[in-house]
Amino acid sequence: MIISGKDIAAQLRSDMQQQVDAMFAEYGRTPNLVVIQVGDDPASSIYVRNKMRAAEFCHIRSQYLHLSGEITEKELCAQIEQLNNDDDVDGILVQLPLPAHIDEERIICAIHAEKDVDGFHPDNAACLWLHQPLQTNHIASIYNPVPDYGCTIACTPKGILSLLASTGVELDGKRAVVVGRSPIVGKPMAKLLMDRQCTVTIAHSHTRDLPAVCREADILIAAVGKPKLITADCIKPGAIVIDVGINRLADGSLSGDVDFEACKDIASFISPVPGGVGPMTVTMLMQNTIDCYKRRQMKGN
Ligand code: NDP
Repeated sequence: MIISGKDIAAQLRSDMQQQVDAMFAEYGRTPNLVVIQVGDDPASSIYVRNKMRAAEFCHIRSQYLHLSGEITEKELCAQIEQLNNDDDVDGILVQLPLPAHIDEERIICAIHAEKDVDGFHPDNAACLWLHQPLQTNHIASIYNPVPDYGCTIACTPKGILSLLASTGVELDGKRAVVVGRSPIVGKPMAKLLMDRQCTVTIAHSHTRDLPAVCREADILIAAVGKPKLITADCIKPGAIVIDVGINRLADGSLSGDVDFEACKDIASFISPVPGGVGPMTVTMLMQNTIDCYKRRQMKGN
């Protein structure tokens, strides 16, 4: 069965519209997201546009700050600091990648952790890794895929848990294999699955006999960036397969990391590219913005 991230994202965004309207009714203010783009990378422009559109749909206020590709790291940090100190701003997102002369890690650290809607700030990453979720009795659903960690969780892995919740399959005790160990997808994904009582293996470019490792998986997450790396011989019959990869092919079309046609009849559930993880990532960005607003509101900001 195909897991349509596009349909689930649409459902979630309608729900968020209502959440935001209710917040406005209660507090007289809607969440406010500032999206910063540095330079004119065409792919970044598309991502930023999608995020702004999603915010508009969810009734979240959004501001687009388009800065010159020549801006210095110091100037960008100063801009971020101004937004950190602006009480009317709930979320700050700096679209990556940044021009080579700017250190991305330094910029991620410059955003106040409470306004870091991407969940990339070291305080948020540490919070995920060091803490067990606050609600041990959490029941996962597409609307509420992760328990409350008290911090912001990276959008892509959070969205994937929502896709997994849509299958209705119990995760407890399952074998999960995450292919890819980046700090924004693979690593947080592995921790979230571990917290859902999965036994998790993380595979990477040095993993020997990747197909054999993947065939152990009841839940296989591919987050690599290599078109069709995951072939039919990597799939255990009945596995759930989630394809995170976005690869632009020479003919201009998009491909995931999974050979979808070859794997779709072996898996019990599989997410497509496009229309799988991508829309969920943007949707979770909206949810993170709402959650940052709520946390700030509760602290009296
Ligand atoms: P990174 O490049 O940061 O990480 C890729 C990971 O894949 C690394 O850990 C690398 O291993 C591993 N890898 C590379 N080659 C192999 C191989 N042959 N076998 C096994 N593992 C391998 O990528 P990201 O995590 O940022 O993104 C991964 C993909 O997901 C990309 O296509 C990206 O565009 C997409 N993406 C999609 C999103 C969405 O919303 N749909 C959001 C974010 C990313 P090693 O650590 O050893 O180098």
